Amino acid sequence: MSPARRTARKGPETPKPWVRENAWPRIPKRERAAMEAYCHGYMAFLSTAKTEREAFDAALAEARRTGFVDLADRARTTAPLRPGDRVLRGCQGKTLFAAVIGKRSLEEGLCIVGGHTDVPRLDAKPCPLYQDSELALFDTHYYGGIKKYQWVALPLAVHGIVVRRDGSTAPVVLGEDPRDPVFVITDLLPHLGKDQAAKTLAEGITGENLNVLVGSWPVDKRAGNRDAKEKVKANILTLLHQRYGMAEEDFASADLEFVPAGPAREVGFDRSMILGYGHDDRVCAYAALRALLDLDEPPEHTAVVLLCDKEEIGSVGATGMDSTFFENSVAEMVALEGQSGSTADLALRRCLERSCMLSADVNVLHDPNYPEVSSPNNTARMNAGVVLAKYTGSRGKSHSSEARAEFMAEVRQVFDEAGVIWQVGELGKVDAGGGGTIAMFLARYGMDVVDCGVGLLSMHAPWEVAGKLDTYMAYKAYRAFLRHARPGTAPANPG
Ligand code: MN
Ligand code: MN
Repeated sequence: MSPARRTARKGPETPKPWVRENAWPRIPKRERAAMEAYCHGYMAFLSTAKTEREAFDAALAEARRTGFVDLADRARTTAPLRPGDRVLRGCQGKTLFAAVIGKRSLEEGLCIVGGHTDVPRLDAKPCPLYQDSELALFDTHYYGGIKKYQWVALPLAVHGIVVRRDGSTAPVVLGEDPRDPVFVITDLLPHLGKDQAAKTLAEGITGENLNVLVGSWPVDKRAGNRDAKEKVKANILTLLHQRYGMAEEDFASADLEFVPAGPAREVGFDRSMILGYGHDDRVCAYAALRALLDLDEPPEHTAVVLLCDKEEIGSVGATGMDSTFFENSVAEMVALEGQSGSTADLALRRCLERSCMLSADVNVLHDPNYPEVSSPNNTARMNAGVVLAKYTGSRGKSHSSEARAEFMAEVRQVFDEAGVIWQVGELGKVDAGGGGTIAMFLARYGMDVVDCGVGLLSMHAPWEVAGKLDTYMAYKAYRAFLRHARPGTAPANPG
């Protein structure tokens, strides 16, 4: 059966100029309440799911609540996968694969939306706690691309887990409740900052300067370890033992991340934007998840959402998109469809090659404070819609996965028919820098992939800014794509 091709639509008689500006007037009144409700749900998620583990746990709980079952559990039943079935698969508690089975066979391709949940932050080193000048500090190693000077003199919270030698775990979240203490990295006072001020922004605060202040009280005379040499550190160890049942060596088996403390907030007198830690990329990851969970009837093609880890460091490692986790997950579905042996292998390969994907990652917005890096007609604008980026990369499109024109046309049509407000975007001026996403890791299967996500101000800063309209349009865009994209039907792809 050959997939249905959409009929080509005729353009308007007189071509209208392409409007690329704030789209607030284009949102129907009846939809504004839905947009607000969606944005507040997202802000609640952003305020609590601050690490890849927390995002995974929140997504998993929500998916299970709405009927998703583990592929391994599903395999124990003998019934083959049926349209509308909801399945998921996790990788090391950090990366999630979730799918709603479509009416067509897997071999006809998947509609995939993939985002990432890891965010730049400061990780505790494996031996983090030390005392200097009667202050206790944590040594950190930054993760992802940060501007180090932005991480000093702001309240930090610590999130993560400690795994004790016996394998038992203690979850750690401290600094988020208004009654919690917070942590901070000190900065030099301007009065004595003459030499520092003469340095470049990259050198003024170095990676080894990022030491988090965690205590200053020495052990009490009555405490058991009053003879300890480093009394402030000893006191912190006592408190850690009381709170988390941990010893100092347990730091060696811990994932502890220092992140900006506090909830996401609305920005502006008009409350039109959201300030949050880790919009990159939870603004897209959350939208993708919600779009999948909200599929109320079986889609034509199986809809897949990926929430992955390690994008910010190049997608390497077991939980990054460079691993075989995604491919293995699809293979599990193929097996559950009833295929086996060499047939299954061929079905898997066909499925991957015929799929299509939105690489759901953020883009840059034009910032009037820094117009020099914007490409006037090609940098996205605040609240002008979700951003479609034909390519990312740097210099001469180095390391980009460029979407072909035919697929761009297909995506445009899907968005327009679903009332999605979208704009195009390019990552700043040519040769001003650049960046990449997970797009290339899926494109290697030969599938169509395009980057599509929310534009941000202050990307990778401790607090990033996203527009509410753009945030909501990402959800609408992913939902439309999962429901209506037709993998393998773009012209010049004789499937
Ligand atoms: Mn990203
Ligand atoms: Mn990023």
